[in-house]
Amino acid sequence: MSYEKEKQIAIEAVTLAAQLCQRVRQTIRPEAIEKRDRSPVTIADFGSQAIICKLLSEAFPNDPIVAEEDAAALSQPDMANYLDQVTAHVQSLIPNATPETVIDWINRGNGKVNSRFWTLDPIDGTKGFLRGEQYAVALALIEDGEVKVGVLGCPAFSLGSDAPTDNGTLLVAVRNQGATMAPLQGGTLESIHVVAAEDASKFRFVESVESGHGDQTQQQAVAQAVGITAPSVRMDSQAKYAAVAAGQAALYLRLPSPKTPDYREKIWDHAAGAIVVEEAGGKVTDMYGKPLDFSSDYKMTDNQGVVVSNGTCHEAVLAALGATVPR
Ligand code: AMP
Ligand code: MG
Repeated sequence: MSYEKEKQIAIEAVTLAAQLCQRVRQTIRPEAIEKRDRSPVTIADFGSQAIICKLLSEAFPNDPIVAEEDAAALSQPDMANYLDQVTAHVQSLIPNATPETVIDWINRGNGKVNSRFWTLDPIDGTKGFLRGEQYAVALALIEDGEVKVGVLGCPAFSLGSDAPTDNGTLLVAVRNQGATMAPLQGGTLESIHVVAAEDASKFRFVESVESGHGDQTQQQAVAQAVGITAPSVRMDSQAKYAAVAAGQAALYLRLPSPKTPDYREKIWDHAAGAIVVEEAGGKVTDMYGKPLDFSSDYKMTDNQGVVVSNGTCHEAVLAALGATVPR
C-alpha cells in the first residue's frame, strides 16, 4: 500500500492544527506564564484535536482515533467560555464550525486501539508550549501493530538550531518510503537522515526539559558510557525525535524517573516520532531493547523507558543500560 491518501490528509490536518496552536500561542502574555495559567494550552489542545479528528473522520470514517483529549470536561457549563474560545479559533480555519460540532469532533478521538487506527497528541509538550519553547502536534496511523504513517508538526523546531524559532518544521514518514521534512509554512518535502557514525560533531544527545519525565542522572551516565561527552540538549515534546531523525543529535534517552518508576509511556507520545526516526535510518526500542508495542492499549504496558538513536550507537547504549540498570 502506498498510503498516499493517508499521508496527504494527515499532512493537511497537522498543518492546520499547528496553525491554530501558533495563533493561540501568540496570544499568551508574559503575565499568564508567570501565573502558570494553563488556559492557552487548554484552548489549543482542544482546538487542535477538533480539527484533526474532523479531517480524519471525514476522509476515513471507519478508522478509530485514539487521541489524548476528551470533550467531557469542555461540555460542562462552567467551561462555556473555553468552548467559545476554542470554537472561535477553529472557525478561523474551518468556517462552519459551531460549539456543537467542535464537541462532536473532539469526541471522535475517543476510539480504541484496533487492527487499524490513528493515534493523536494534539499538543505534545504542553510545558514547552507555555514557555515558548518546543512542542509538537503528533499524528500516526497504526496498522497490524506497526506504525505506517507519521506526521509531526513542530512549530518551534528548525534544523540547525537548538533554540526555539518561529519557522517550524513538518516531518513526514511512510513505512518503507523514507522520512522527509519541509517548512511548516509550506514547501517541498526533502529526505532526512540520521547522523552518520563518523560525524562525531553531531554525537550529542537530547532529553526532556522536565526532570520528572526521565532520569537525567542516569541518562547522562549512559550517554557518557557510549562516548557522548557534550552536555545534553534539552527539548520538550517529540521535537526530540525530529532532532534525531534530522541528524541534529545521535541519541534521545528517556529512562524512567526514580519518582515514577511505574509510569508507562503513552502511544501518542511516541508513534509519530518513532516512524520518522526509523524511516530516517535510526532505531527505536524500549530500555531493554524491546520494540515499542503500539497495538495493545493506549499505554505501552510491556515497555519501559525509550531509547532512540541513529542506529549505530544503539547496541552500545543498551549494553550500557544493562550494566547500569537493575533488572
Ligand atoms: P516531554 O516533553 O518529552 O518531557 O514529554 C511530555 C510527555 O511526558 C507528556 O505528553 C506526558 O504524557 C509524558 N509524561 C507525563 N508524566 C511522565 C512521567 N512521569 N514519565 C515520563 N513521561 C511522562
Ligand atoms: Mg504528550
